[in-house]
Amino acid sequence: MDFELTDEQRDIQRAAREFAEKTFPDVAEACDLNETFPKGLWKKACELGFVGVFIDEAYGGPGLGFLEHSLIAEEFSRVDAGIGTILHTTLGSEFILLFGREEQKKKYLPLLPRGEAIMGMAITEPDAGSDVASVSTTARKEDSGYVINGNKIFVTNGSIADFIVVLCLTNEEENVKTNRHSAILVETDREGFEANQLKRKLGMRASDTAEIHFSDVRVPFENLIGEVEGEGFHQLMAVFNRTRVAVGMGGVGIAQGGLEKAIQYSKQRKQFGSPIGSFQGIQFKLAEMAGLIEAARALCHKAAWMLDQGKIDPKLISMAKWFGGEVAVKVIDEVVQIHGGYGYLGEYGIERLYRDAKLIEIVEGTKEIEKVIIAKELLGIR
Ligand SMILES: Cc1cc2nc3c(=O)[nH]c(=O)nc-3n(C[C@H](O)[C@H](O)[C@H](O)COP(=O)(O)OP(=O)(O)OC[C@H]3O[C@@H](n4cnc5c(N)ncnc54)[C@H](O)[C@@H]3O)c2cc1C
Repeated sequence: MDFELTDEQRDIQRAAREFAEKTFPDVAEACDLNETFPKGLWKKACELGFVGVFIDEAYGGPGLGFLEHSLIAEEFSRVDAGIGTILHTTLGSEFILLFGREEQKKKYLPLLPRGEAIMGMAITEPDAGSDVASVSTTARKEDSGYVINGNKIFVTNGSIADFIVVLCLTNEEENVKTNRHSAILVETDREGFEANQLKRKLGMRASDTAEIHFSDVRVPFENLIGEVEGEGFHQLMAVFNRTRVAVGMGGVGIAQGGLEKAIQYSKQRKQFGSPIGSFQGIQFKLAEMAGLIEAARALCHKAAWMLDQGKIDPKLISMAKWFGGEVAVKVIDEVVQIHGGYGYLGEYGIERLYRDAKLIEIVEGTKEIEKVIIAKELLGIR
């Protein structure tokens, strides 16, 4: 057993840390306050090769793995998780990478690491969140292609994306609920496509989140992801197996950044004539925080490493995503506590960590859904 990262992985980690430390703090507060996506930084991150590292060389990426992608996610989120979502401008590309036709791979994937396009995936609907198989947006077949109608909500990059993979109902007559959907790629400049940014999110406000309305949006048949209809739900589960680990690692990054701030503050803040870090009550907190982070990181690394070895373990992936979120929320709660009243004020940047961390427990499957997946695997329920 070898717990060491390779030299290349350490270089990527170091480069991502330097880039984030040098550039994120300048824009983080303004992007949070104004709820704006940092387009310039996204372009820069693409130029430096941080975006879409898991995309094969044949399609314009460096052909690295999900572990490398996750290492970058940690380093970006350690400095600022909201700005760090520039990494997730490839969201949904996993559909194309895993199931797309050769023409789709060649047409769309190279644009992402080059910073020439942003994408997203529109799954969630107002009445279909955790229950993904209840998605009701329809893709009706006409002579020349699909006609899409319906509403999606909470779509990351929804109002800034160039194209989006949309989960649609195509085979309503199928008996099995999970065989009724297809993933269809929609270019956002098509007539009938309307996206509105959702404002006043709790956290991650540098990330664009939108509601999308499809009103007779026409796309050609070749925009279907894969060769046959009815595979969309199963494709999505495979996509989640790739995306969830990086989200968990984002949680690890938030927690790590917070811990470092808490350590620094514990050394400098004096009460009762001593630095608060000399009190055992604070020391216990720091020790527990560090232990939780180490455990979450190890879990995420293992899940990502296995993924890159082609060993897909949804139970382990769900553990990594759940625990990454849980640790982020728990650790940041203590980070705020250690900063006392100053942790509660906007100008110290600690309350932003508190707001950002919570999303990890909701997005890409809530913590309850992750536990449902783990328990089903444990109990052998299909
Ligand atoms: C900022 C942000 C970005 C997002 N980005 C995207 C995106 O890019 N694309 C996209 O499609 N979606 C996106 N989402 C949506 C996100 O994935 C959903 O919010 C999430 O899956 C939960 O769905 P819901 O909000 O409808 O909650 P619900 O499914 O209504 O759940 C409500 C509560 O009930 C619990 N619950 C539900 N079912 C069960 C069960 N069987 N057992 C136990 N508890 C249960 C949930 O865990 C939760 O606590 C985003 C959300 C946010 C907030």
